[in-house]
Amino acid sequence: MEKTKYLIVGNGPAGSSAAEVIRSRDPSGSIMIVDREGERLYSKLLLHKFIIGEVPEQRLYLHKENWLRDHKIILETDGIDSITAGVVKLKSGREVKFEKILFSSGAAARKLGLEGEDLEGVYDFRNLADARGVESGLGTAQNISIVGGGLISTDLIDALVGTGKKINLILRDKEFLWGKVNEKAGRYLEQILLDAGVIIFKENEVSKVSGNTGKIEKIKLLSGEEIASDMLLIAVGIVSNFDYLAGSQIEKNKGILVDEYLQTSEDWTWAAGDVCEHPVQGFNEKIVSGNWLYALESGKIAGENMAGEHKQCWSLPVSVKSLRGVSIGYYGDVLAESETVDAEKEDVFYRFFVKDSKLCSASIVGSQKNSAVIRSAIGKEFSTL
Ligand SMILES: Cc1cc2nc3c(=O)[nH]c(=O)nc-3n(C[C@H](O)[C@H](O)[C@H](O)COP(=O)(O)OP(=O)(O)OC[C@H]3O[C@@H](n4cnc5c(N)ncnc54)[C@H](O)[C@@H]3O)c2cc1C
Repeated sequence: MEKTKYLIVGNGPAGSSAAEVIRSRDPSGSIMIVDREGERLYSKLLLHKFIIGEVPEQRLYLHKENWLRDHKIILETDGIDSITAGVVKLKSGREVKFEKILFSSGAAARKLGLEGEDLEGVYDFRNLADARGVESGLGTAQNISIVGGGLISTDLIDALVGTGKKINLILRDKEFLWGKVNEKAGRYLEQILLDAGVIIFKENEVSKVSGNTGKIEKIKLLSGEEIASDMLLIAVGIVSNFDYLAGSQIEKNKGILVDEYLQTSEDWTWAAGDVCEHPVQGFNEKIVSGNWLYALESGKIAGENMAGEHKQCWSLPVSVKSLRGVSIGYYGDVLAESETVDAEKEDVFYRFFVKDSKLCSASIVGSQKNSAVIRSAIGKEFSTL
């Protein structure tokens, strides 16, 4: 049977940063990454610029072509089927014995669960293959519908409004970025969308996706309206990828549960990035971050721990997007169920999320120049700030 000292499931930012740090600490230990995309590390943060031709495909790659070979890392692209007692079974049936394993298999896009979702022209917009499909479909698509009112939709709208296409936005909530940004900022952002010609369907959902020739032609909403759509982009959240652990005793919830050392409930086993559900400093809860910086940082720390360190990871998810030139920043888990306090100063809109009387996260719409102060206040008593 094949053997490797370190086995890493997933070649996104979490898996690659872990592999890089392991190699720097253990120059000769064998490292195998198993992925299912067959790509070297690329930026998902620029995919929306790639689909409109603003960023060429080569600029998406964050590693040079020879990076894996130069770091003596083997990349297998057949995906993981299952794992039992120190042995991983690949989809091809091959078995590989490992000493230490990192789960960094990220997250998949949540599906709508509707018939017609597999028609040509319907995309999750989760990886480079999706982005290539969108890019080639944009040449002929005129009516584009986007489902979901979060940060991925923000990217998509920001990229697509300048293309002259008709853009429909379907929101389940009563506002764009509902709940996550200051209420006044939500109305302000919505006006920006309307001014850019986006047609918004609020408090609505897609109930049917249809097309007669194998390609999407229209969608139907719960309200009964039908919208001509030759492209449907779905961005309604993520689901951590850990199906291959179905038969394992490793503890899981929304993600693979880890402690502050990113260790799972089993020895010699770590998880990092979007697949893990991790503790938050100062709070008695665990979250799935779904965040690039968190993936990089947690991957690095997991790699250090796999190579023999004992480091804690308290990295916070941070995302900053831009909508028609207006910055939107999330600091910490803004989805946390918590009390909210809105504030506004010099055309900058803040929403603070407070839990157990401590600041747990914040969003800023407008200049992000005070973000460092706000980030450092997370976890502290809110009333003293
Ligand atoms: C369009 C888009 C825009 C984004 N913008 C931002 C942003 O602005 N800011 C931000 O912070 N975050 C952003 N994100 C989120 C960010 O990209 C993710 O949080 C980050 O990529 C997570 O890294 P990861 O390494 O945990 O997982 P991933 O990057 O998802 O990588 C996981 C890898 O594991 C592989 N895999 C999955 N299952 C298996 C299996 N069974 N066997 C083998 N391999 C498997 C996958 O193919 C994938 O290559 C964005 C995401 C998208 C899609």
